[in-house]
Amino acid sequence: MDNLKSYEEDIYKCSRCALCQSVCPVYKATLNECAVSKGKFNMLNGILKGELSFSKRLKKYLDMCTGCNACKNFCPSGIDARKIFIAAKSEYYANHRFSILEKFLSSYFLFSFILLISKPCFALYRFLRLNKVVTLFFAVFEKTFLGRKILLINSLALQRFNVSNKKHKISGKNVVYFEGCFNKYINPQTEDAVRCILNKSGINLVKKKFKCCGVSYLSDGNVREFEKIAVHNLSQLSNDDNLIITDCASCKSTLDSYKDYVTASDSINLNFETQSVSDLIRNYRFKSKNHCRIAVHIPCHEDTKFVDIVENIENAEYVKVEAEDSCCGFSGLFSVKFPEISLKISKSKAQHYLENNVDFILTTCPACILGLEQGLIETGCYSNKNRPVVMNLYVFLASYCDII
Ligand code: SF4
Ligand code: SF4
Repeated sequence: MDNLKSYEEDIYKCSRCALCQSVCPVYKATLNECAVSKGKFNMLNGILKGELSFSKRLKKYLDMCTGCNACKNFCPSGIDARKIFIAAKSEYYANHRFSILEKFLSSYFLFSFILLISKPCFALYRFLRLNKVVTLFFAVFEKTFLGRKILLINSLALQRFNVSNKKHKISGKNVVYFEGCFNKYINPQTEDAVRCILNKSGINLVKKKFKCCGVSYLSDGNVREFEKIAVHNLSQLSNDDNLIITDCASCKSTLDSYKDYVTASDSINLNFETQSVSDLIRNYRFKSKNHCRIAVHIPCHEDTKFVDIVENIENAEYVKVEAEDSCCGFSGLFSVKFPEISLKISKSKAQHYLENNVDFILTTCPACILGLEQGLIETGCYSNKNRPVVMNLYVFLASYCDII
C-alpha cells in the first residue's frame, strides 16, 4: 500500500476549483469545507509540509467522508480522494497509541461476535413476532430518535420475502460464492434468491470459510486489520479458484482492492477475478407477477450497473429517480460516527423516491438497504402503508418475478 507521501503530487494537483463541493453528499449536508476533498487536501498538505500535526481532530475530519467516490468521478484533475484518505488514516493508525478499550472496540473479534449473536437475536425477534408489534405502533416509534433506531432494526427483521430456500443440487460449473457477512448472518434470503435465479445457468455456488470482506476496516484506515482479513479470505482460495461471484456491490469492490494490499505467495492466490451476479443474469428475462413501479438505488461502489435488468422486467415500470446513483448516506462506520449527517443525507435521498410514488426501491448492497430505510423513516412516511418497499434486487427477482 502507498503511504501518504507517495500521494503528495496528487494532493498538489488539486487546483482548489471547488467543483467537488457540488457533488459531495457530506458537504451538501454540512456546508463544512473540511468535509469535502478540497478541504481535506488543504489539511493533508499542512501535514506533509510539517505545518500541522496529525491530531485526533484531523482524523475526525478525514472520517467525515462516506467514501462515495463522487468527487473522484467529478474532479477535473482526476484525483482519487478515497485512496488518499485511506493512506492518510492508515498512517494515523500506525503512529498513534490506542488504549486497550479502543483496540477492543475496533477489533475484528468484537465485530464478528456482534454479527454472530445478531443471527439468533433476529431469529428470536421474528419468533416472538416483535416485528408485528413494532409494525402496529409505527406512528409512535417514528416520533423519537430511539424509536426511529428501533424502526431501522425492525426494517431488517421485515426483510423476509417469499423466496424458496430449497438447496438446489446442480451438476454444472462450480464457482466460488462470497456471500458477505450481512447476508450470512442477518439476511440469508439473498443467498437463497441468488441460488434460485442462478439455477437456470447451471452454476453451482461453492462457499468457503470467508470472513467479512473488511470494507469498514479499509474505510476507517485500519489497514493492518484489513490486510489480516484479506489474507484470511485469499488463503481460502485454491489455485483453481479464479472466479469469485458476489451479489454485494461493496464486497465486490473490496475484494477487487485486495490486490493493492496483499502480495501473492504459495498460500495466497491473487489470480482471481470477481463477477457480480447481475452480470451473469443480464440476458435473463423476468416478468413481475403484479404490475408495479420500480426505482433503483445504485450503490457508490457498483461497477456493473444493473438498471438494464430492471428496465427489462416485464409487467413493471422502471422509474428513473433523480440521484438514483448518489450516496445513500449509510456507509458503515460513517453512520455510527456521524449519525446526524448520515440521517440528513439518507432523508434527502429518500424524498426523491417518495416524490415519484414508486412501489419498490431495489439495490444490491445490504448497507444501502439500511441507508434507504433510515432515509424513509426520517421522512416520517413509515406509518404509511403505501410507502416504497426497499429490497435487494435478487430477492425481488426471485420472489416477485417469474423467469420467462
Ligand atoms: S474537484 Fe478536484 S481539483 Fe477541484 S477542488 Fe475538488 S479535489 Fe480539488
Ligand atoms: S468520497 Fe464522497 S463523501 Fe468523501 S469527500 Fe468525496 S464526494 Fe465527499
